[in-house]
Amino acid sequence: MKLLVTGGAGYVGSVVTAQLLEAGNEVVVLDDLSTGNADAVPAGARLVTGTLRDAAAGVLAGGGFDAVLHFAAMSLVGESMQKPGLYWDRNLGESLALLEAMRAAGVRRIVFSSTAATYGEPESTPILETDPTRPTNPYGASKLAIDTALAEYARLHGIGGISLRYFNVAGARLPEDGDAPGQGERHAVETHLIPNVLKVALGEKDKVTVFGEDYPTPDGTCVRDYIHVVDLGMAHLLALDACRPGGHEIFNLGNGNGSSVREVIEVCREVTGHPIPAEVSPRRAGDPAVLVASAEKIKSTLGWKPERDLRAMVADAWAFIQRRR
Ligand code: UDP
Repeated sequence: MKLLVTGGAGYVGSVVTAQLLEAGNEVVVLDDLSTGNADAVPAGARLVTGTLRDAAAGVLAGGGFDAVLHFAAMSLVGESMQKPGLYWDRNLGESLALLEAMRAAGVRRIVFSSTAATYGEPESTPILETDPTRPTNPYGASKLAIDTALAEYARLHGIGGISLRYFNVAGARLPEDGDAPGQGERHAVETHLIPNVLKVALGEKDKVTVFGEDYPTPDGTCVRDYIHVVDLGMAHLLALDACRPGGHEIFNLGNGNGSSVREVIEVCREVTGHPIPAEVSPRRAGDPAVLVASAEKIKSTLGWKPERDLRAMVADAWAFIQRRR
């Protein structure tokens, strides 16, 4: 297949691009490099630098595209609280430009990176796709709006969409042979737990801050559902095959089990062999106590199966960092 990957210079987009190439597809990456890195785009994909608004129509008009995988987005929850207009404009606005470009070019399938942040504070756990969506920040709200737009474009314009709602993505894709770094997390501003803990192991930070120890969880710290980026990527290949013009489906993507902040830090200590000092601070605003996916729908419908546990995520993220150094 010939595929357009938006955001293919970013973390998840670059991993999925590598997997798509490995499966024999032709891939064009469209990325404005606002947060991505040109050298993260796997060899074999063609990189077009530009925004979706400026460049998607031109690229798709070139012809022959079978589908789009749409990763390009602003994805920092905290920043979205400071700059909601920017998140609405970039996430929803640019996605609408992409959908219109698809319509004009007759491209009728799209797999979209949605998020657990569309659900907000859950009423019950694990979270099902049919649960209420009440996002608590503009990041989640803008992604939910795109899910809604996809449903409308499916119903009214026959464009088939699959929204994959990611829980906490971690790990890296390491090439099987050789010691090239592969694809992994390289955020300029790092807010996520595992990369921040690994920075402490590397000596780039003195200690990790645990945001709150007074949650109603077994050890008092927040519980999240971590999923390996390679397992997550494989779900995109399955979704691509399952995507049918005229339909829109939503699937949660998590492992279905939770790990606390303390448990994550402990696994990082074991994997890296570094002590990793931790200090407790007050809760971070907007963090729900527990976010765990029910991944039963994607397992039973698409036959997806996660194969890598938290230890593998930390080990691969750690190997990626070492190789890049
Ligand atoms: N967290 C933490 N210290 C950090 C970063 C994150 O204690 O330096 C906690 C955060 O409060 C949340 C969990 O780790 O409970 C995962 O946070 P992350 O930002 O990685 O992902 P999120 O769940 O916000 O998408």
